[in-house]
Amino acid sequence: MRTFPPYRIQVVKEIPITTREQREEALARAAYNTFDLPSNMVTIDLLTDSGTGAVSAAQEAAAAQADRAYAGSDAYYRFRAAVDDLTSYPHTFPVHQGRAAERVLFTSVLKPGQISVSNTHFDTTRANVELLGAEARDLPCAEFADLDSREPFKGNIDLAALEQTLAGPDGERVGQVLVTITNNGGGGQPVSMANLKAVRELCDRYGVPFFLDAARFAENAWLVVRREPGYGHLTPKEVAQEAFALADGCVASLKKDGIAPMGALIGVRDPEIAKRCEVNLIATEGFRTYGGMAAHDLERVAQGLEEVIDPHYLASREADAAHFADLVTQAGVDIVQPSGMHALYLNAGRLLSHIPPSGFPGHALACELYLAGGVRCVELGSLYLGGFDENHNLVTPAPFELVRVAIPRRTYTQAHLEYVADVLADIAKDPSRVASYRVVDAPPLLRHFNLKLERIPAGA
Ligand SMILES: *Cc1c(COP(=O)(O)O)cnc(C)c1O
Repeated sequence: MRTFPPYRIQVVKEIPITTREQREEALARAAYNTFDLPSNMVTIDLLTDSGTGAVSAAQEAAAAQADRAYAGSDAYYRFRAAVDDLTSYPHTFPVHQGRAAERVLFTSVLKPGQISVSNTHFDTTRANVELLGAEARDLPCAEFADLDSREPFKGNIDLAALEQTLAGPDGERVGQVLVTITNNGGGGQPVSMANLKAVRELCDRYGVPFFLDAARFAENAWLVVRREPGYGHLTPKEVAQEAFALADGCVASLKKDGIAPMGALIGVRDPEIAKRCEVNLIATEGFRTYGGMAAHDLERVAQGLEEVIDPHYLASREADAAHFADLVTQAGVDIVQPSGMHALYLNAGRLLSHIPPSGFPGHALACELYLAGGVRCVELGSLYLGGFDENHNLVTPAPFELVRVAIPRRTYTQAHLEYVADVLADIAKDPSRVASYRVVDAPPLLRHFNLKLERIPAGA
């Protein structure tokens, strides 16, 4: 039996339909940076699944009656109840978005010169570690390096490497272990409960705090239910509760699995860390009962956290991603296997093998998807992760040239995703036509949000 979404569409928004000529012009005006495209020039926007999910009637109803008291509003207590239902952290704070949660928590935990160890730091997470003068060190598991392998938990942290780091000469400097579930920077792959338990043990043995970056906690829990032996009989909520319980705290952007336009969460056990977070929060985000969030967004998040953990919703979301993945691979475009839930990661390096890393095959494919079909997505390859010299030449390529095609929650139907697969299939018929790119301007930090590029026509 097929799964189907446990909701019907009650409010819709028109999407822009454009010509290739208009898109050529728009992309040139954006200096070939998809982040600089106005969204009224984008037909299918798969740039991110962050803050782009469709809200429910129940969320809007809650938002409409939100109590906007400065301190101790009803909206805060609804938020607390939803968070307490999932996590067992005695201290939790609302924050306006995930990166603010990172800044507030890391400022309270990390000192300059310390090391944050992760399966993979998300880009803003890395930036917030580095802005404190600390080092962000990624230790993804070895299975991730084989993009085609169908290992079920390629988001895991490399436990042997983690233990070596903790036991080795750098061990003293490790200020935190941060595990990202699911691993957004690592192909959207899930982390197993066995991996989280082993991290817990190592952190106990070496006396290092263990935090989760839990932006996609519900999707990770669902993939554990589906893939990990011994968890198939549990609900995704029970798995999520167990995951949160293993850690000393968390940061979580609620623009993903909160299915809300804005919001995030900090949770901690340690009362001293909580005190430091609270002072920082009040000084920079807002009072502890709203933390930079409007009351209507606290209500949307509280309701969204209940809706996201529904097994029918998660099953349908997994099925959508799997169907999309099937169509794309049938079209001749390889993806990071196995497909997760929030995005497909296209193997652009393999599809556009005529473009060397210095011509940015991932970015070339992202631009072509826009030009050919009005589809917006983002490169995760050498442009994002590579090393550059001061003249913006690529010196160290990224290990893979990927494109992330995100799937916003409850927003597009299968027909939209089928259209995107058709656009990709057309490109895959003659990939040699796809142009490459050169960087003309780039900032040193958070490069890919602020790049300017030039196009080098194919065959030039
Ligand atoms: C989105 C995201 C963040 C940052 O959250 P924002 O709400 O966008 O600031 C941090 N970590 C991960 C894994 C994310 O996906």
